[in-house]
Amino acid sequence: MSALGWLTQPAVFPWVALVLGLCIGSFLNVVIHRLPKMMERAWRADCAELAGQPVPPEGTYNLCVPRSNCPGCGRNIRALENLPLASWLVLRGKCAGCGKPIGLRYPLVELLAGLGAAWSAWHFGFGPAAFAGMLFIWCTIALAFIDQATGYLPDDITLPLLWAGLLFNTAATFVPLYDAVVGAAAGYLSLWLIYWAYWLATGKEGMGFGDFKMSAAIGAFFGWKLLPLVILLSSMVGLAFGVLQMVAAKRGWDGAFRFHFGPYLAIAAIVAMFWGQPIMRWYLN
Ligand SMILES: [Zn+2]
Repeated sequence: MSALGWLTQPAVFPWVALVLGLCIGSFLNVVIHRLPKMMERAWRADCAELAGQPVPPEGTYNLCVPRSNCPGCGRNIRALENLPLASWLVLRGKCAGCGKPIGLRYPLVELLAGLGAAWSAWHFGFGPAAFAGMLFIWCTIALAFIDQATGYLPDDITLPLLWAGLLFNTAATFVPLYDAVVGAAAGYLSLWLIYWAYWLATGKEGMGFGDFKMSAAIGAFFGWKLLPLVILLSSMVGLAFGVLQMVAAKRGWDGAFRFHFGPYLAIAAIVAMFWGQPIMRWYLN
């Protein structure tokens, strides 16, 4: 058996996906940390240019440059200290230089990206759906964590994800292309409608325009038929976290929890991807 043939065996492929996912998770940590800062830099430069002021000189800062370093002591992270999950465990969550704690977010993102990829590989088997599922999970992990930390859902992730969903479905990977195109439009419009209804009812903004685009991407991947389920599930997850937030506030942990809508959408969409069809069948019967 060829090496590729062996790696794509049903008993082996999920483990390959797990390792791949852990490594991608390590990269997602960089995206989650740097992309919002890169956006803010770009906005600062745009504002300065618009105001006719000189653009503030800043060193190169993108997903590759500069190298990762400890925010505590500036120590460069060596390759061996950058192994997903393993390094965090060996270092016991502390910088090898200054002993400053490394956030639990880093191993958590790696673990989620690895387990999500393995589950996608196991669930769909070797083929386009498994890879589409992995891509979707990795992008929504980045979106959920960026939204939770900053309140942004960057166009640089939501829009390519939308296109990827449509392109995968040209070969009907999850749904026929017709369902995907209608899903993209309906995903955007349905949250847009909820946004205005909520605004008219309460005078508050319940979500932002990034949520509409993320919902459009979900529709592009899984079609319009799963959208009601995704919206229902995300509201339920939101409600559960809302109750948690109220309990926390009562106990004086105010500000400990501040939730955005992106993570709810991410959780709901991933549940719908794996279990949407059986849930719908069960519900409609
Ligand atoms: Zn350090």
